[in-house]
Amino acid sequence: MRVALDVDGVLADLAEMVLRIYHEDTGVRVDKSLVTEWEFWTRLGLSRRDFISLMVRAWNRWEEMRPLEEDIAEDTEELCQLATVEIFTQRPADTIEPVKKWLRRNGVKYHGFKWVPLKSSKSYFLYDVYIDDSPRLAEQLRRLGRRMMLYSQPWNASVTCSDRIVRVNSLDECVELVRSEVL
Ligand SMILES: [Mg+2]
Repeated sequence: MRVALDVDGVLADLAEMVLRIYHEDTGVRVDKSLVTEWEFWTRLGLSRRDFISLMVRAWNRWEEMRPLEEDIAEDTEELCQLATVEIFTQRPADTIEPVKKWLRRNGVKYHGFKWVPLKSSKSYFLYDVYIDDSPRLAEQLRRLGRRMMLYSQPWNASVTCSDRIVRVNSLDECVELVRSEVL
């Protein structure tokens, strides 16, 4: 089984870091629980380009980026024992190296690293299952009949799940789902 494992919003708390920088810039504090839309930056009066620049700045401070769970090293190791795991991440090219450093620092295990440029789409790449927090990707994969574990976040709460698009609340749940498929 080939598993595509997302980084932002699944392993790394990018939203917290972006909102922290936004707070430093503007003095305005926005709580992550209020980020209930994928393109939340439009609500802050930011353009997509502004958001991407915040994302690059956030990853330039990769040493401060928090993991979303304490035990991502153990969970990804278990996942790697059960399946072929590729880090599958869509992002600006200049954030790739910081992400790789962050993955190493946090002990994340994986078999391969696949970068998807911002102008491409994750749905163009075929995996058996995707672990991702994107509501957009969930809709695309649903139409394609593929399987996804939707990592629960405030910005994907409105996605309706099904037998192929399954909501998960932790990497532990992902491990158990993959285990039940493999064994
Ligand atoms: Mg993501």
